[in-house]
Amino acid sequence: MQNISRRQFIERAAATAGFAALASMGMGWGTNKPSVQSKEMQQQKMKTDVLVIGGGMAGLFAAVKAHDSGAKVMLVSKGRLGSSGSTPFAKGLFEFDPATSKYSLDEFVEAVGRSALGTNNPVYTRQMAEHSKDRIDELREWGFFDSAIYHKSFSKPINDRKISVYSNSFN
Ligand SMILES: Cc1cc2nc3c(=O)[nH]c(=O)nc-3n(C[C@H](O)[C@H](O)[C@H](O)COP(=O)(O)OP(=O)(O)OC[C@H]3O[C@@H](n4cnc5c(N)ncnc54)[C@H](O)[C@@H]3O)c2cc1C
Repeated sequence: MQNISRRQFIERAAATAGFAALASMGMGWGTNKPSVQSKEMQQQKMKTDVLVIGGGMAGLFAAVKAHDSGAKVMLVSKGRLGSSGSTPFAKGLFEFDPATSKYSLDEFVEAVGRSALGTNNPVYTRQMAEHSKDRIDELREWGFFDSAIYHKSFSKPINDRKISVYSNSFN
């Protein structure tokens, strides 16, 4: 018989009960077998000037800007364009237009900080305020807002430029 303290007994009993509960829900070891066999994967060599990894907002801008500067671009993403990562949350794009806003730039940065109870990064907030209008004007030009469906919004500027896309791929 092993000599264990009361605390050790309680910890071990709790762990055993937890494992039993997981197993009863079908969440034990060995239930989540991978369906992809790495040995069956094939290699393919491809050439490009610019490889963009990620099909969110940053990836969209990187790919379009590189293409429009004359580069051959390839975009790979682990999900569908515009449908994975943080990007699906960005439904209401922030835009600060100094021509129409009732706030000056400084007042706007201060107001955002107040409403976020100081949890925002004021440097990023200022950058967003300084650049958002130009970026959103570009998205308008690219036909980003022609569809309410995120995947279509992101695909339009990419497809219009015939940029190669490999989605559902990890890198
Ligand atoms: C809850 C929440 C609410 C928000 N609300 C707003 C809002 O109202 N307005 C606003 O403007 N912004 C909002 N944002 C911020 C906005 O969503 C982000 O700033 C923006 O989406 C970031 O874009 P990104 O391209 O940098 O990253 P992501 O959108 O995360 O894109 C990264 C991409 O890379 C892919 N990827 C990751 N790893 C790999 C890999 N190994 N191989 C291949 N691909 C990979 C992902 O699948 C994804 O497509 C919000 C964010 C959150 C989390």
